[in-house]
Amino acid sequence: MTRRYFIPELQSTGGTITLPDAESQHAIRVMRIKVGDAIELFNGKGLQSDAVVTQVDRNHCICESQAPQLIDREPAKKVRMGIALPKPDRAKELIERLTELGIHHVTPIMAERTQRGPTESSLDKLRKVIIEGCKQSGRNHLLEIGRTTKSHDYFQQESSQTKLIAHVSENGISPLSFLNGPESETISVAIGPEGGWTETEYELAVKNGFASVNLGKRIYRIETASVSLASIFVT
Ligand code: SAH
Repeated sequence: MTRRYFIPELQSTGGTITLPDAESQHAIRVMRIKVGDAIELFNGKGLQSDAVVTQVDRNHCICESQAPQLIDREPAKKVRMGIALPKPDRAKELIERLTELGIHHVTPIMAERTQRGPTESSLDKLRKVIIEGCKQSGRNHLLEIGRTTKSHDYFQQESSQTKLIAHVSENGISPLSFLNGPESETISVAIGPEGGWTETEYELAVKNGFASVNLGKRIYRIETASVSLASIFVT
């Protein structure tokens, strides 16, 4: 597999590019990159280019890039997820999976039963995981992580055409019934914390147009619920 490097400022003409410090360090120390190696660059906003390494010293890796092209590997539907994120190590696994799946946006939710919300430094670590996930999966768009939002605000603000709340209950419907919406629609899905949504949160969501979906007869952890729901809409 061609190694991919993240260059936020990829020039439209291509040309000589020095990899950013962290990417240079990784290329030199971990990947043992050499002059003449073929690499791929991407800017996280859809552009990708082929490049060849032209110079390597102790700290810098320089390459010659072709003009980047827009290569879209995003799912047809934009999937936005509001998630009461689990603890940092589990949140990392979750965000890695959601990056591979092509999820467009994640809003970390402070639910009524959220015990401790994510810190800025844990969100920064998640942004690194997203870059790694894009390298690994060939995705050219970074998954966006929005601002941590209280559940009540989230339910009132989210404005997608289709809005779903995953809730453990007898009477939710299958998310499969929402599959035949327009190809390019935006879908929002909300996943609650380990303690589940409170009745107040659930009622507020329904009042704001969220349909209650049931994922089966078992109760899943946040990651399982998120990945199984996401995977339905991203093919
Ligand atoms: N203790 C809680 C379970 C929380 S599981 C309870 O019994 O309600 C964490 C979140 O995953 C839930 O808030 C919900 O959003 C989602 N989830 C887990 N299993 C689910 C299922 N079978 N159907 C729908 N949503 C589910």
